[in-house]
Amino acid sequence: MNQTASRPLRLPGLRLKAGRERSLLRRHPWVFSGAVDRVEGNPGLGQTVAVRSADGAFLGWGAYSPDSRIAARIWDFDESTVIDVPFFRARLARALALRERLLPGEQAVRLVHAESDGLPGLVVDRYGDVLTLQASSAGAQHWREAIADLLLELTGVTGIFERSDADSLAVEGLQPRTGTLRGPELGEVPFQEQGLRFRANLAHGHKTGFYLDQRDNRALLGSLCAGQEVLDCFCYVGAFATVALARGAKHVTLVDSSADALDTAAVHLADNAVAAGAELVQADVFQYLRRLRDQGRSFDIVVLDPPKFAPTVATAERAARGYKDINLLAFKLLRPGGLLFTFSCSGGVSADLFRKIVAGAALDAGVDAQVLRHLGPGHDHPVDLSFPEGEYLKGLLCRRC
Ligand code: SAH
Repeated sequence: MNQTASRPLRLPGLRLKAGRERSLLRRHPWVFSGAVDRVEGNPGLGQTVAVRSADGAFLGWGAYSPDSRIAARIWDFDESTVIDVPFFRARLARALALRERLLPGEQAVRLVHAESDGLPGLVVDRYGDVLTLQASSAGAQHWREAIADLLLELTGVTGIFERSDADSLAVEGLQPRTGTLRGPELGEVPFQEQGLRFRANLAHGHKTGFYLDQRDNRALLGSLCAGQEVLDCFCYVGAFATVALARGAKHVTLVDSSADALDTAAVHLADNAVAAGAELVQADVFQYLRRLRDQGRSFDIVVLDPPKFAPTVATAERAARGYKDINLLAFKLLRPGGLLFTFSCSGGVSADLFRKIVAGAALDAGVDAQVLRHLGPGHDHPVDLSFPEGEYLKGLLCRRC
């Protein structure tokens, strides 16, 4: 076979402006539209393009996204690589191998973490025998069917549910898609974590139904909470609270503004026979913390796991005020010696900025506090060293002295 037959010589491509190849040379996988000088050929949405520097040097194979701020996301930086089904089989197998090695037997686990697993825009979570698939880039959507078949082959699951409904889709010029991709109709899926019973609502839950990224932090809370009185703020479906009560917490107050989330939390507590120690409160956390303060209430442990206040750096300042506010109130509610589990999942707030915000909160609360541990997601949420954007969840375990 001659070379032309296996790979057309004139594949469509993106030619970058002079000097704009630097981030790609550092193996960062995003090509911003402002860096593109011209589009060569006529690539379609999600199609593979060769990205080249102004002087024609090959930089990487990317998936083209004409309407996005990110004009291409790089699949691979090696010119000899062919982006085809075997390529995706190898990438998926590499991602699965990490989980098999470090989280063997875990029923609920993130199998593919997008850019950080070399598969930009693709997130795959496993809940028992079922997978959820999120394709939030043009490239991931372009290869969706092949990837779904490969996932069935490599994992042996019975079904795949698609949750391609992230806010970012519209920015990419992509249509949202939610529904069964392979196998039977799927709704709620039961699974166990740490021997406790949970269920993921694949169609309507946050993310893909459950906050898998907090698994290790739930376990850490569980190891520290025997006999303690716990306040779980932004509790969602009560995962922290369920673990805490199952591991011997004396009492947990769960607070969330969503009635649906609290309903599911009640089910989780009941399914694990720990409802007796729980009080569920539907309230705005900002207001409720003030009410607790005014009532002179105090706790041994406070968990603050709010939603993303700042998706981007541009919104970081307003977000910082929000984090400062709730952390300040939490420090005031902690008994001396009490523990604060505090998190930010805002991409726009760095770990360093978050630590400074929490330090400022302790100062203004008038308490001395120590950092006992820096917290992050588990091994199934790796961060590619070339892709700092992958490091979205940061947390601190603090102790009020
Ligand atoms: N801690 C949870 C995840 C939290 S997700 C877990 O580990 O599973 C964020 C939650 O905050 C959502 O359930 C949302 O309903 C809730 N929320 C958002 N803004 C809120 C507010 N101002 N007051 C109370 N809850 C809020």
